[in-house]
Amino acid sequence: MKALSGFYYVDDGQTVTTCRGRGKLRHQKVTPLVGDRVEFTPLGDGSGSLDRILPRKNQFFRPAVANIDQLVIIASQAIPVTDPFLIDRVAAIAQSRDCPCVICVNKCDLEPGDDLAAIYTAAGFPTLKVSAQTGEGMDQLRALIAGKVSAFTGNSGVGKSSILNALDDQVDLATGDVSEKLGRDTTRHVELFRLGCGAVVADTPGFSSFDVDRMELMRKEELARCFPEFAPYVDQCQFQDCAHVKEKGCAVLAALK
Ligand code: GDP
Ligand code: ZN
Repeated sequence: MKALSGFYYVDDGQTVTTCRGRGKLRHQKVTPLVGDRVEFTPLGDGSGSLDRILPRKNQFFRPAVANIDQLVIIASQAIPVTDPFLIDRVAAIAQSRDCPCVICVNKCDLEPGDDLAAIYTAAGFPTLKVSAQTGEGMDQLRALIAGKVSAFTGNSGVGKSSILNALDDQVDLATGDVSEKLGRDTTRHVELFRLGCGAVVADTPGFSSFDVDRMELMRKEELARCFPEFAPYVDQCQFQDCAHVKEKGCAVLAALK
């Protein structure tokens, strides 16, 4: 559920045990991630040793989580305005791991965000417009995350913590102005929360555009399949190795036009 200062908090459905990684794990250079399914040995005093990490369905480095059913990409058209390029990058990384994405445009009380929402709706993503402030869209968001493990991600200040607080009375995360949070985020940890609506959600430290440069890279040949909206067209391009950028006879560009 949580990884902090070399301790791993393991929830077996009844209690949470504070575990240390076994020497073997450190030896193999595998770091337990939040979301991992593990085997552990309780030592009787609330502590335990984490013995084994079970195979992962997927894993991400930013946010550092594993076995996620979906990424909820939080964006905003009010301050801070999210660059759609950032959304595309995160969505492409998720798609490359076969992890579905939900696009959630927050702060719609300040800026409706219709244009941004329209782009991702047209691309086929479940897209919501919400406001953590007024509660608008929270029921729809609850319905999309219920029964699943989701990671909330998005640039700092878009309202990830505020949304989690709005979703569940039991959650009370600190929220703050953007500049304040940028300083604090570096020390924040990733944690899974069980919400009343039956969702499990990872609140992850926000990233700044700087962090995008440290995100995972992929081969450019793999990129086209990371945009699900290309799928109906990619096989119709004139050349098989089409990069869908400016090639002659590109069906993706024709569709875009
Ligand atoms: P995080 O960095 O993504 O976790 O963002 P926070 O939840 O800390 O929110 C950053 C700032 O935006 C805080 O001052 C919040 O009060 C504000 N905020 C968050 N959501 C909304 C919203 O829907 N409407 C408005 N008006 N402000 C919001
Ligand atoms: Zn093409």
